[in-house]
Amino acid sequence: MSQPIRFTLSQADIPQQWYNLNADFPEPMPPPLHPGTKQPVSLEMMTAIFPENLVRQEMCPDRWVEIPEPVRDIYALWRPTPLLRATRLEKALQTPAHIYYKYEGASPAGSHKPNTAVAQAYFNKIAGTQRLATETGAGQWGSSLAFACRFFELECNVYMVKVSYQHKPYRRMLMHTWGATVHPSPSDQTNFGRKLLAEDPACPGSLGIAISEAIEDTVTHPHTKYSLGSVLNHVCLHQSVIGQEAIKQMELAGEEPDSVYGCAGGGSNFAGIAFPFLYRKIREGKPCRIVAVEPSACPSLTKGELRYDFGDTAETTPLMMMYTLGHKFMPPPIHAGGLRYHGMAPMVSHALKLGLIEAKAVHQTRVFEAGALFARSEGVVPAPESAHAIAAVVEEALAARAAGQKRVILFNLSGHGLLDLSAYESYFAGKLEDA
Ligand SMILES: *Cc1c(COP(=O)(O)O)cnc(C)c1O
Repeated sequence: MSQPIRFTLSQADIPQQWYNLNADFPEPMPPPLHPGTKQPVSLEMMTAIFPENLVRQEMCPDRWVEIPEPVRDIYALWRPTPLLRATRLEKALQTPAHIYYKYEGASPAGSHKPNTAVAQAYFNKIAGTQRLATETGAGQWGSSLAFACRFFELECNVYMVKVSYQHKPYRRMLMHTWGATVHPSPSDQTNFGRKLLAEDPACPGSLGIAISEAIEDTVTHPHTKYSLGSVLNHVCLHQSVIGQEAIKQMELAGEEPDSVYGCAGGGSNFAGIAFPFLYRKIREGKPCRIVAVEPSACPSLTKGELRYDFGDTAETTPLMMMYTLGHKFMPPPIHAGGLRYHGMAPMVSHALKLGLIEAKAVHQTRVFEAGALFARSEGVVPAPESAHAIAAVVEEALAARAAGQKRVILFNLSGHGLLDLSAYESYFAGKLEDA
C-alpha cells in the first residue's frame, strides 16, 4: 500500500452533540415573521404543525445540543461515514491539490437526509406524534423519512409531486418498501388537491402544491405533525454530525483543508459539512474558504435577493429572511431535483450575508461532466446534486495546477446517484441542456 486513502472512525466517534452555529454568529439572525402581523412567530403558531421539542430546537440559542442515545444507536447503522482522499481524481486532473470527500451516500437511503429524518422521527415519537406528513419531489426526502419512521412505529404519509410519482418510480418503491403511504400530488386526500384536480385532472403537481397538501393533512388529522427535510434551523443542526466527523478524519489524514465545498439546494448538507468548520473559523481563527455550490438554473445565493419570503408557493409558511428567487419562481426541470428550491436556509443565507462563506453557481453540463469523471476515477456514482460540488472542486483543482499550488480541498458527497442513472444516460446521449 502506497498511501492511506480512507480515514475511518469507530462507532464511539459518532458525535455526542449537534453543533448550533446560531450561538456563534457575530450578529443575530433575523427571526421568522408571521405573514399577517409581521411580528416574530410564536411558539404556539409553530406547534400547530411541529412538535414543541423541535420548535425549541428551531429557536435554540445553545451552542451544543445533546444527541439522544436512541438517535445515536440508529446513526450507528451507517455512521461515522467514511472520508476518503480522491487520489485517482487528483491524478486524472494532474493537480498538485489534495482532494478529500466525506461520503454521505453510505446511509441506507443513499444520502445525508436520514441524519435529520431519524432525529425528527425520534423527537416526534417522544412528543406523542403518531403520524407524520411530508412532501417529496423526486423522493430523496420521502424515502429518508419513511426509513426513519420505521424505527419509531410512526405512520408516514408522503405527498409526492405527480410527475415524479409517475416517471421516477424507484424512490416511490423504496418508500413503499419501508412502509410509507405515498400519494401522487395533487391528490384526492385534501381539499386543496381536490380543487386542483377538479380544475385540471392532468395537473403535474409541484413541490409548492405538495407542501400545501402535507400541511393541510397535518392540521386536519389527529396526532399528526409535519416534517421538513431541509431549510429550517433544526435540520441544519442535525446535519452538523457530518462536519464534526470530517474534522476528526482530516486530523487522521494529517491535513487541514484550506477550502470546504458542498452543494446547496435548501442548504442542509452544506450546513452539515460547513458549520463545524465555521465554528473553528470564528472561534479559533483558523482560515478556511467555505463555498456553497448551486445550479446556474436555480441560483438563489448568487442571483437571488436577501429578503423576507415564504418557504412555499401557496404562502402557508412563516416569512423567512433568506436569499430567494421569489416563492413563485419555477425552476427549469434540471436533473438535480434536490437543488430546485427557490430559497435558501436562513442560517446559510445569514452566513453568506456576514461574509463567512462564499457561493458559486455551475451549469448542468459541467456538473454531469464532473460527475462522470468522478465515477470513472473514484468508482462512486455521485448524485447529480452532489456533482455540483464536484464541478466546483474540479475547477479549483485545475486552477491549482495552473498556479502550481498545493491545496487541500474537502467536499461533501451528499449522496450516490444509483437512482439517478437515467439523468447520466441523458447526459451521455448529449440530451442535456444548460438553462
Ligand atoms: C436533497 C439533496 C440535496 C439538497 O438538499 P440540501 O438541503 O441543500 O442538502 C443534496 N444532495 C442530495 C444527495 C440530496 O438528496
